[in-house]
Amino acid sequence: MSVRVRIAPSPTGNLHIGTARTAVFNYLFARHHGGKFILRIEDTDLERSRPEYTDNILSGLRWLGLNWDEGPFFQSQRLHLYREAVQKLLDQGLAYRCYTTSEELDALRERQKARNEAPRYDNRHRNLTPEQRTAFEAEGRSAVIRFKIDDGREIVWNDLVRGQMSWRGSDLGGDMVIARASAEGIGQPLYNFVVVVDDIDMQITHVIRGEDHIANTAKQILLYEALGAKIPEFAHTPLILNQEGRKLSKRDGVTSISDFEKMGFTAEGLVNYMTLLGWSAPDSTQEIFTLEAAAKEFTFERVNKAGAKFDWDKLDWLNSQYVHHMPVDQLTDLLIPVWETAGYTFSGGRERPWLEQLVSLIAASLTRLVDAVAMSKMFFTDGVELTEEGSAQLQQEGVKATLQGIITALENQSELSADSAQEIIKQVVKEQKVKKGLVMRSLRAALTGDVHGPDLIQSWLLLNQIGLDKPRLNQAIN
Ligand code: GLU
Repeated sequence: MSVRVRIAPSPTGNLHIGTARTAVFNYLFARHHGGKFILRIEDTDLERSRPEYTDNILSGLRWLGLNWDEGPFFQSQRLHLYREAVQKLLDQGLAYRCYTTSEELDALRERQKARNEAPRYDNRHRNLTPEQRTAFEAEGRSAVIRFKIDDGREIVWNDLVRGQMSWRGSDLGGDMVIARASAEGIGQPLYNFVVVVDDIDMQITHVIRGEDHIANTAKQILLYEALGAKIPEFAHTPLILNQEGRKLSKRDGVTSISDFEKMGFTAEGLVNYMTLLGWSAPDSTQEIFTLEAAAKEFTFERVNKAGAKFDWDKLDWLNSQYVHHMPVDQLTDLLIPVWETAGYTFSGGRERPWLEQLVSLIAASLTRLVDAVAMSKMFFTDGVELTEEGSAQLQQEGVKATLQGIITALENQSELSADSAQEIIKQVVKEQKVKKGLVMRSLRAALTGDVHGPDLIQSWLLLNQIGLDKPRLNQAIN
């Protein structure tokens, strides 16, 4: 039997980090076993599903490199299958029409609440006679379809992450609604039911999803049995938690994969981080790997039961590893849109070769791609913004004469190179009888406005190539 797994997002929001992490585990498991990874869009909630969310989900999965082998399949295009399956259960007496009104259900719930009982349907329409049914229909009531759940049943499965799991039928809330009400026939089929019909139809062998679906699994197992299908294996993955140990939410500043992209994380860094959210390699000191490398090692034995805490520092660190080791042309491709978003333009000699030199200059200092905006601002604006320290540096004694010396030396240069720049500094040290440190600090303050920053000679060369060094030096002495 070859492995077939799926990710089944609902397009009621952008691709969420939790769903994406579940997709990662599905992907790794499929690749580990040479199986298939299937994408299914669960868009049966017509009111909340939107095509732009579907687009966001598809592009997010692609961006992360989680390429699927089959699909996307859309549940909204498969309604006939679900209706057929509902009909099958009705024909076999495993499901029935329930005419209980919402007022009656509310009253039932109130009574249960008053007795401190958990809300559950009392299965009152399980065994209606044909006459009773006709009478309800004559009243104009429409019927939902309910699936019979045996209270005495014990549902047991061996979860690949959590081990032996067991649920009592009596804890499932009574006979469950599998299709909404409709005046004629069968209304909209509901989540727990359509998932099972699809997973059977798509021959899913392993259902890997978040632990918030555990109660659904108990119900779904009963549906597999009723539909006469083989029950797949289940793996419930741990939730992602914030620093306080609560389920990660929007309030933690973490939402969708597209937000992480906007925050300047690379796809490789983020997907690597997600593989570590609840899983570790057999050699747990090994933390940097591609999806393909992680897939070789991935097993559920190494997936934690406990929730996985989201750790921004670790994500930053991993991201910086990818940024620092990325080939310059690739990093330049990623930074160009980041600069564009910041409003920087590539005029006045800021052509590709110059941009690549700039990228080489700042790459080692980047953590997130967006850090490049602040770090390279001085290369995209004409004037300099002086920091307090930069300004103090320029006011020190001897600085003006030093800078004047540099300007004069520069005038005799046809083209500045790393060697000639060093030569100019040496010459000024000698002529002005000042320390090299003073020359370097003054030059940096004049050129960049600050006393800290990336390699000075390289920065100078870059500014020289776009004609900004001389004006800034002149400005500093005036
Ligand atoms: N559509 C469900 C969700 O977004 C997926 C359920 C499943 O994986 O079975 O949570």
